Parts: sequence; structure tokens; C-alpha cells
Amino acid sequence: PRDAAEALDETELAIEGALRPSSLSEFVGQPKVRGQLQLLLQAARIQERSADHILLAGPPGLGKTTLAMIVAHESERPLRLSSGPAIQHAGDLAALLSSLTPGEVLFIDEIHRMARSAEEMLYLAMEDFRIDIMVGKGAGATSIPLELAPFTLVGATTRSGLLPNPLRDRFGFTGHLEYYGEDELEQVIARSAAVLGVRLPADALSEIARRSRGTPRIANRLLRRVRDYALVHGDADSASLSDVQAALELYDVDAIGLDRLDRAVLDALVRRFGGGPVGLSTLAVAVGEEAETVESVVEPYLVRIGFLGRTPRGRIAMPEAYAHLGVTRPDGGAL
Ligand code: ADP
Repeated sequence: PRDAAEALDETELAIEGALRPSSLSEFVGQPKVRGQLQLLLQAARIQERSADHILLAGPPGLGKTTLAMIVAHESERPLRLSSGPAIQHAGDLAALLSSLTPGEVLFIDEIHRMARSAEEMLYLAMEDFRIDIMVGKGAGATSIPLELAPFTLVGATTRSGLLPNPLRDRFGFTGHLEYYGEDELEQVIARSAAVLGVRLPADALSEIARRSRGTPRIANRLLRRVRDYALVHGDADSASLSDVQAALELYDVDAIGLDRLDRAVLDALVRRFGGGPVGLSTLAVAVGEEAETVESVVEPYLVRIGFLGRTPRGRIAMPEAYAHLGVTRPDGGAL
């Protein structure tokens, strides 16, 4: 599964950390969200209070965690990192919230995966900086109110549609992160290459950008594989276009940046299901992947590049997908 394939070892995590921009001005792209955050942080600074709660929505690897770190850094507040799957009971959340220091920024990744009971506790905490702790059971149960230090919640989700409205409404705003353009990815890669000390000619740089699926995390990862390739093949501090091509071929990244799972989904859709429409769960089973991964990781990019359509009756393959796979459409549509 992709989760396992994406699991980074410690060195990779350390490198990912080193490549993170630490201020809004270093953060490439997303002009809309950057402007929104800038205003929110400035207003909080003027009034010397904690910034409003922020929800960041968008596919993995587009910079949600990085932005949470920037919010903490720019407002000179400490940052606490947690995630929805780590909050399985209201008690987990109560422990977390009551240990925050005044003004702390709390980042909850994958907030849509938090337990329901914790969600309800979070409403009150976000609104009034207060929680009610239940003590005892049955008729003798009572709730004890607990005051919290003010904090700024930054929630991240790949599925904002899964958040209940009362939770969504309690965020000061929702920033929707978009896939990056090639020119923006070039800037991300140029910056990372400088940090890693690798020289890249312009053609090599744009080739990596073109194959990064609109995603900075993927751009950085491909850059590291290209650097490995150049290193092993003799040049420790520069990589050429042919290094890029050879490295990416080795890692099954195709000419437009689709990886094995992307191609498996397209292949199943086109060859096995005759181009659709086919339901999400059927498609996911066919490629041996979780429906959630297919829906939130694979599909958004395929939709964005016009290869896949989501219709009320299911997923369909678009003409561009047939052309990319080199398959003739059943209706004989021209390729
Ligand atoms: P998410 O939380 O959305 O999955 P991250 O914030 O962890 O994504 O970003 C993944 C990687 O991509 C990080 O190493 C980060 O440095 C890099 N990155 C993301 N967005 C940008 C950006 N706008 N500019 C530069 N690097 C970025």
C-alpha cells in the first residue's frame, strides 16, 4: 500500500524537515492561502491575542504541516503536533488540550479521523477555551468544567467534506491548497537543491518539476533520488537531465509524473471496466488499495489533469487517459 511505500526513514524525515521553509515569504505558491494567513496573523499580532483557528484542506504533500509550522514560527508561539488517528477517545484530547501552554499552536493532522466523542469536546474548546470532563458513570455522573489556556488550532485534512459542519464552522477560515504549477515547483526544487548542495541545469530542473504531480513533497523526493543517482554514477554535486531521466525511470515515475498506483487505477478503469462508470470501492478493490487512498491521494490529481471524471454513477476514464495508456477507445474515438 502507498502508506508503506511512503513511509520515510529517519534520515529522510530529517531531510524533509531541513527542506521546509520557515516563513511565509519563503513559502512558494498558494498566493491565496498565504494572503489569508498573513492577514489573520497580523490582526492577531496587533491585538496581542492568539490567532483564529485555521483549517487547511488539500491533498497530501502540498504544505499543510509546513504552514502550521510557519504559523507558530511567525507568531512566535510554541507548536504542538498531533493527529486525528492519535485521538481515539475524548480523554486523549482532554489530556492534550489541558497540557497546552498559553498561546500555543496546536496542529492536528488528518483531523477528519478523530473520534466523534473528541470532536464534540473540541467544539467547546475552540469556542470558549473550556472543556467539560465527565466523572463517574450512570446516574451519579457529573461533569466538571475545566478552563483551558487560549490556543490556536490548525487542523489539516485531505477530506474537508468529511468534517461535520459544527466543527468546520468553528474555524476562522479554511485555506484550500491547490496543486502547484510547474514554475512554482521549479522554485521549490531550486531552493531544495541549494539546501542539499546539488547543482541542476535548467533542463534537469524543469524535468523534475514536470514529473512531480503538482506536489512539493514529491518534487523534493524525486530530487533526492536524482541526487542519489548522480552520486552513485560519479558526480557528487551536480545532476544532468539524463540523470533525472534514468533515476525517474528506475523509480517507475512516467513522463508526466504518474506513479505505479496512478497507472494501476487508470489501467483498471480503462481495461477492466471498459472506461467506467465504476464505483470507487470496486475500483479500489481492483487495485488492492484502500478506497480512501484512491479517493484522496490518487484521484484528485487524475481529475485535475483531465484523465478521470467523477460522476454520480461512478468514475469514468476521459479521452486523455486512453491516449496516455495507448489504448483505443471502445467507441473508436480518435487518439
Ligand atoms: P502536507 O502536510 O500537506 O502533507 P508538508 O507540509 O509536510 O505537506 O510538505 C511536504 C514537503 O514539501 C515538506 O518537505 C515541505 O518542505 C515541502 N513543501 C510543501 N509546500 C512547500 C512550499 N510551498 N514551498 C516549499 N516547500 C514546500
